[in-house]
Amino acid sequence: MLLTERDPCGLSGAFQPCWRGDHDSGRWAEGGFVLLDVGDGALRDLLSANADLKQLRGIALSHGHFDHLGGLHTVLGFLRMIGYSVELPIAYPTGCLEAEGLLDNFQRLYPEPPFTIKRLLLRDGDKAALDSFTLTSYEVNHSGSTAAGVLDPIPALGYRLELGGWSLAYSGDSGPCENLTKLCTGADVAIIEATWADETPFRGQRRVHLTRSEAEGYGSLAKEYRLIHSQAG
Ligand SMILES: [Zn+2]
Repeated sequence: MLLTERDPCGLSGAFQPCWRGDHDSGRWAEGGFVLLDVGDGALRDLLSANADLKQLRGIALSHGHFDHLGGLHTVLGFLRMIGYSVELPIAYPTGCLEAEGLLDNFQRLYPEPPFTIKRLLLRDGDKAALDSFTLTSYEVNHSGSTAAGVLDPIPALGYRLELGGWSLAYSGDSGPCENLTKLCTGADVAIIEATWADETPFRGQRRVHLTRSEAEGYGSLAKEYRLIHSQAG
């Protein structure tokens, strides 16, 4: 679901926080918006929120886990259907094989869509432009896990999104790390994952997610914050 300036907590269960322009304040240009991750159900939520997909200015993927980019093919297919016709920047961590594979497949299936995709492969500290939005990358601390246990670390980024002197920090998925402090400090709004309740038995999984208390600690570094993926309580 869309995040708006007045309702930055308006997230659904799917993992696709995004930000859009505010016509009343004029703070964001022409109602343009970007997507920060595109989880399964992203298109459903965007259409439910009456989003004008032709105003999409870019997509930033934090990492390649299915719950963060599983809806990308659907969004791209919808853009093709409605005749989206400008260059679409898609940012993701260098080495994110899932993003590469998904985009390769989409472009193999549809070699001549009405729009072009500009891939932005990012590393820690890189800046990129999503139209008039500025994106800054912060490497974070994340690994996947399966029934077999915690896997090796993967390329994962948090992002600072800025426009017109206003800024949003987005953690993506991360265990505790110094870069989350840098990312969140001074941001106007921080959107931080808090997947684990404080009483979660970690069993060494410290590089996978944040607890609620940890997320609140990072959030307190911003002017305001919202927790996502959080447990009740
Ligand atoms: Zn993840």
